[in-house]
Amino acid sequence: MTVYDGHCHIASTHFIPREFIEDVVRNVHRRLDARGPAPAPARLTENYAAQHDDHTGDQLVAEMDAAGVDRAVLLVPDFGLRMDCPLPMAEMARLHHGIRQRHPGRFWVYLGADPRRGEAGVAAFERMVDDYGFDGLKLYPPCGYSPSDPGLYPYYEVCAARELPVFVHTGPTGGSLDYGPAHPLRIDRAARDFPSVDFVLGHAGLTHAETAGYLAAHRPNVYLDIGGFASTPTIPRWPEHLNRLFRLGLNHKIIFGTDWPLGRLSGGLRRSVGEVVHGPTVFAGVGRRDQDLIMHGNLLRVLAPASRPGGGG
Ligand SMILES: [Zn+2]
Repeated sequence: MTVYDGHCHIASTHFIPREFIEDVVRNVHRRLDARGPAPAPARLTENYAAQHDDHTGDQLVAEMDAAGVDRAVLLVPDFGLRMDCPLPMAEMARLHHGIRQRHPGRFWVYLGADPRRGEAGVAAFERMVDDYGFDGLKLYPPCGYSPSDPGLYPYYEVCAARELPVFVHTGPTGGSLDYGPAHPLRIDRAARDFPSVDFVLGHAGLTHAETAGYLAAHRPNVYLDIGGFASTPTIPRWPEHLNRLFRLGLNHKIIFGTDWPLGRLSGGLRRSVGEVVHGPTVFAGVGRRDQDLIMHGNLLRVLAPASRPGGGG
């Protein structure tokens, strides 16, 4: 079976802000501390940061090879107006272009943006997408804006003109960020106003699955991502959850993704992808044609024709 991972990040402190790691660690510490003395948060942060040293994507490609993942989408969120970031967006874009050249044919890239960057932000996004041939827009509403913010409409016009998808994080995230703007219904206005743009709701097959499910069922341009399925604290029995999700009649709208490097410490891509593809539960009662849609077909449908393997460039 061809497997494409629709949701990955380069596990590098060049791209993931220190504050984001500290957010994650606060919850880890709270969980460990409840059951006995836990290492100090500062030490947990150091350990966690030390695992984010895959600056060139080599470790990710090795993981993909071991797991049988042919290609993956790299998401590059723009945290810059909310957290201190080590690099400006233009530099992150340049480095992701380099990573893609280093590993030909393995990665698509969705570039981040923030509506509060104004006209200069739109122009920069458009230029980088065209210069590097990037494949989509990545939005992170927990940074403090709605995905239906009018300031995003010029970005959606850029995407409409190039047939690029928009990937929108939904649901909870680091504890210092805003969850309100990340509710899936916040996408509704934009999805209605830009019917030719495909919107992929990050994590929406996991959290807010009922609301996101009716959006996907009734808005032709709304898709669901399952990134983080193996590491969502509220879904301990994830194979059962995915199996229920895959029997709702929405398999033409669900895009497989892992949210690597999430879950890296619990067996990595090989274990989680293996359980999905070869395990007894996830695809029980799901036909082969639907499995193919989830594991690669739907992603190819939202990507611009030119971005598809064998496409125009
Ligand atoms: Zn992610």
